[in-house]
Amino acid sequence: MSLQQVTILGATGSVGTSTLDVLALHPSKFSVFALTANDNVLALLELCLRFRPIFAVMRDKSAAQALAAELERQRCDTTVLAGSEGLCHVASCEEVDTVMAAIVGAAGLESSLAAAQAGKRLLLANKEALVMSGALFMETVRKNGAQLLPIDSEHNAIFQCLANGSPEHADGVSKILLTGSGGPLRTLPLDQLDAVTPDQACAHPNWEMGRKISVDSATMMNKGLELIEAKWLFDTTPDKIEIVIHPQSTIHSMVQYVDGSVLAQLGNPDMRTPIAHGLGWPRRLESGVEALDLIAQNQMTFEPLDRVRFPAVALCEHAANAQGSISIGLNAANEIAVDSFLHELIRFTDIPIVIEAVLDQTEETQTPTMEHILAVDTEARSKAREQISKLVKSR
Ligand code: NDP
Ligand code: MG
Repeated sequence: MSLQQVTILGATGSVGTSTLDVLALHPSKFSVFALTANDNVLALLELCLRFRPIFAVMRDKSAAQALAAELERQRCDTTVLAGSEGLCHVASCEEVDTVMAAIVGAAGLESSLAAAQAGKRLLLANKEALVMSGALFMETVRKNGAQLLPIDSEHNAIFQCLANGSPEHADGVSKILLTGSGGPLRTLPLDQLDAVTPDQACAHPNWEMGRKISVDSATMMNKGLELIEAKWLFDTTPDKIEIVIHPQSTIHSMVQYVDGSVLAQLGNPDMRTPIAHGLGWPRRLESGVEALDLIAQNQMTFEPLDRVRFPAVALCEHAANAQGSISIGLNAANEIAVDSFLHELIRFTDIPIVIEAVLDQTEETQTPTMEHILAVDTEARSKAREQISKLVKSR
């Protein structure tokens, strides 16, 4: 059997490196075709020297030049490409079988969509792409015969509990139970939320992730984005999705059926499990993740969502029930607000305030074309920046 050729978009990130860890366990099944990054030359250089991909892509053009020079010096014959054209090329290239979409944020939209357009097996971690362009994205997958496998752990769990995610096997589903740990600030006294630092917000109790998604977990914006993601992936409506807090993150989500059955997927909180599931599907692959020890686990608890502590979730629910432009505004405002928080320009509690202000100014429209999606995104980003400078000036 020939090796499956894999492209990893966002190879230097948390999901990207976990993907490489799983691939490294199966050299007889997979070959690394292309690895990409934004501007981290040293990290991508190291990966190229270890995995010897055919292509390496850096979005940043001068970083690409630096990488090419260093690879040549070290006699590595990986070809370096640059910019979003380079990312789209390795996502859609004829030789490629599987694409892991693990760029963070809206920056991943174009290349994820290029993989869908080219009919690839698409392992989607980049949830923001789906939040921004859900209808267009799912239509592109269908029209081009791409195979979309969810990598976000909750959606991967739901996919497994839905008998392989297929709507025709989802007969009798009464509800999707989307679990979330509640993040690192679940029990912090409410009056201390204002003073939360970036490092505190990024100290997730169960998962090790990039800084953007870590802040999203602390605000629970992540769960809200996942609600929108689930709506598109499983062709359902937000009223059929319930968020349940489960602080131990042992259950990664559940599906409830009309006969009273509830199916859950359990495991240690480690992204290598959903990644191996996506890579191997419909077969199972070793992932390197330790077997779950239920006795050591000791307890599994569940709580309702605290809506006072986590106002971002209601904003996401509003977007999930509205036309596409609202989700684009939501995502764009969140990306700008999180970045400003990480740069200590605004407070932790300002994040939902910025998002709400942008949503108040976002016109509700359908967004069937890429051009329209990008225009709404650009507009919302500039409104978010305005809102942030107002907040900063007022203090
Ligand atoms: P990281 O921040 O760890 O990694 C992001 C990757 O994207 C890096 O390779 C980075 O390159 C690259 N990148 C960043 N900006 C750009 C850009 N403008 N253009 C091209 N490439 C870019 O993120 P995570 O791995 O944590 O998350 C990736 C995606 O997966 C997100 O959408 C997240 O929501 C989703 N996800 C992550 C989970 C996790 O456990 N981490 C769990 C579930 C979903 P460079 O190194 O050069 O900056
Ligand atoms: Mg998740």
